[in-house]
Amino acid sequence: MLAPNAPRVLIRTAATPADKDAAIRQAAQLLVAAGCIDPAYEASMLRREGVANTYLGHGVVIPHGMVDDRALVRESGLAVLQVPGGVAWHDGQDAHLVVAIAAQSDTHITILRRLTRLIQDEARLARLRTTQDPAEIAAALSEDAPAPGTAGPAADLPHAFTWTVDYPTGLHARPASAWVEAALGGSARIQVRHGAEVADAKNLIALLQLGLRAGDEAVISAEGEDAPAALARLKAVVTGLSAGEKAAAARAAEAATKAAAPVAGWNPADPCRIVSGIGASPGLAIGPVHVLGPTEVAVPDEPEPLTSGGDRLHAALERTAAQLKALADDTGRRLGQADAGIFKAQSDLIADTDLITLACQLMVEGHGVAYAWQQAVERMAGRLSALGNPVLAARAADLRDVGRRVLAQIDPALQSGHALPDRPCILLAPDLAPSDTAGLDPARVLGLATAQGGPTSHTAILARTLGIPSVVAAGAALLALPAGATAILDGTTGRLYLDPSERDLAAARAWRDALRATQEEEARERGLPARTRDGHAVAIGANVNTPDQVPFALAQGAESVGLMRTEFLFLERGDTPGEDDQYATYRAMLEALDGRPLIVRALDIGGDKQVPHLALPKEENPFLGVRGTRLLLRRPDLMEPQLRALYRAARDCVPAGAPAGKDAPLSIMFPMITSVPEVAALREACERIRAEIGAPEVPLGIMIEVPAAAIQADALAAHCDFFSIGTNDLTQYALAIDRQNTELAPEADSLHPAVLRLVRMTCEGAARHGRFVGVCGGIAGDPFGAGLLAGLGVHELSMTPRDLPAVKARLRAASLDDLKALAERACAQPDAAAVRALDRASSGAAEARP
Ligand code: PEP
Ligand code: MG
Repeated sequence: MLAPNAPRVLIRTAATPADKDAAIRQAAQLLVAAGCIDPAYEASMLRREGVANTYLGHGVVIPHGMVDDRALVRESGLAVLQVPGGVAWHDGQDAHLVVAIAAQSDTHITILRRLTRLIQDEARLARLRTTQDPAEIAAALSEDAPAPGTAGPAADLPHAFTWTVDYPTGLHARPASAWVEAALGGSARIQVRHGAEVADAKNLIALLQLGLRAGDEAVISAEGEDAPAALARLKAVVTGLSAGEKAAAARAAEAATKAAAPVAGWNPADPCRIVSGIGASPGLAIGPVHVLGPTEVAVPDEPEPLTSGGDRLHAALERTAAQLKALADDTGRRLGQADAGIFKAQSDLIADTDLITLACQLMVEGHGVAYAWQQAVERMAGRLSALGNPVLAARAADLRDVGRRVLAQIDPALQSGHALPDRPCILLAPDLAPSDTAGLDPARVLGLATAQGGPTSHTAILARTLGIPSVVAAGAALLALPAGATAILDGTTGRLYLDPSERDLAAARAWRDALRATQEEEARERGLPARTRDGHAVAIGANVNTPDQVPFALAQGAESVGLMRTEFLFLERGDTPGEDDQYATYRAMLEALDGRPLIVRALDIGGDKQVPHLALPKEENPFLGVRGTRLLLRRPDLMEPQLRALYRAARDCVPAGAPAGKDAPLSIMFPMITSVPEVAALREACERIRAEIGAPEVPLGIMIEVPAAAIQADALAAHCDFFSIGTNDLTQYALAIDRQNTELAPEADSLHPAVLRLVRMTCEGAARHGRFVGVCGGIAGDPFGAGLLAGLGVHELSMTPRDLPAVKARLRAASLDDLKALAERACAQPDAAAVRALDRASSGAAEARP
């Protein structure tokens, strides 16, 4: 039976048009004869073929007129020409069902929806190509398929069971996607009914739209050949997930309780919601939270032929699915299968047939692929969020998120950036790329909290450099916090307090002010050398990447730059800086330092510092791959311009008024060294380039960042002029903890005795050859850590400029003998917590400052 206002369906079976144009004309004549179109619409249909290919797929074509000629349509109608022998259409594709459409746009979508559904039913389509019964074709094109999750009889199928939802957080995406997977395992039709609402169990969005909550009753029913077995399989999955769902809810509740326990430092007096992570950059920030979302990108509507558009959409969906699979695998390894399920559910969302059909329909209507996809995602997400159910609203956010991934695959130019609010805020983000963090403005970003990441990640390091109090590894709950709510972020204890009382806000402001007063006191003496009470001087440098940061570092008390991370010259721009650009930067650094020493680290690309424009091969384990020196030795096109720029700066930047024979105070060091031959190869390259340029010799140092280098420090010391210990990486490689791993972040402590012993070995190895040892990893900027390093025999500490005054104050208050004894005790401790306990015991401080 036809639905009311259904278009007329005119059918000619066993047609044998000579070619495509003849087929279009014959179909158009059927429509003309039935009074559906003005005869001029035929020409419009032929014109359309010239600008778009109307081949829909599987032998179905849909000729229709130009949009501007809609006025020539008198009545909606379909003319179907069945061509059993096929007629050549486009690019070697044969059409067997020519479905000429005369319709206004809303009817058009309905027809295409039916057709795209029909295309998915191969067997039926095969019958329609040869049937001699026009009624069979008419029926296929007239049946109105139910809208996802809404229509369908509220009656159950023959085999059924009833289940009361016992998942504490209802049927959310993770379990729903497991249901879909089980339902897809067989050919039986399975539906889930909740009251009058029915959903296809093979359709994730439809299932989610049921909005099942704990305690709801659902009837799950099936029909078809293997229905009883399929239902039994699904039942096992449905009920089997209950225990895991309950355990997950219990874990969340337990974590919430733990997160509320008082910490050493600032604590609220009144109850409020607490989200816990790890402190990554100290200080208190007070302000409204803002969840970092991508900016809206304007997606242009650029129509293209359906076939190539379809291919592009297909390829983009495939690439996104592969990306999500990699993310799920990676997350599964790092955080466990429960979290990996988020990405699994996201892949199910983009595989949803209704979503893809909708996008195809929009493309068939003449819209561009990117535009059609974005519209389809928006409509589906809109439907989900309009239901007023928070679980579904979150799925809408997931759908938009994954939709953006696909969009970026369709056209990389549609990649969305980040949008920041105008007023100062505490920024909440899933994670930030180091280059995004580097671009943050501390005047607008009062505090930063990320769901992922670790305290030694480059993002955390940059946040410290910028002086932005930061928390990392706070978990996904962070991103669901209400935008604009007032929060207190404590970057020392790693906590975020949401909606604190007025009393707590006042107390937090007082604490923040007291902290500032302590810092000011330390700052007053920051210009003095870091000389211990018994007269031992420790050299103090700053980790600074650009010349404009030098004055601030010097004002904080830096005596030199102990680490210039040059990869940021590459990360912060969209192309590779040339030799002259680099030369200008190194020269400007030397000039800004005005005769003070500068250690420039050669490019350390790889690990978490990926430079998209270099298009380096993707690695399974980038931290264990071609990173740092390994890349430099393989890519002379990257290393040599940098070395040339450095030697030119050394040659040209002898400080004014320097005594004759005094060279520029520049040193070069190389990251991620593991072996003596690497150092030999680097020295050879340096010497060749130096001779070419006619530059003076400069000290060549290496970073000690892998246990192999620390253990072989004595051998390496024979081949280089100095060491700089990168404790961030040394910690990650010694403890086998990815420095960005959220789950393990609390254990990735550079004060672990194993790391301290490697530092001790490095100092001993260097001492055999009289080499200078610095530390430029994050622990050098921790006052207690700095004391231990000095006690272990480190000569220089280089840190984020903001850490300088407190480190200097602590060193000046100690004696070298005490520090040596403390360092020995630290190396003998069983774990990092025991080492940190020595701090409290030695300083008598039970509480964090102030
Ligand atoms: C380190 O590893 O400690 C270091 C200083 O290098 P980066 O943090 O840049 O890897
Ligand atoms: Mg490093």
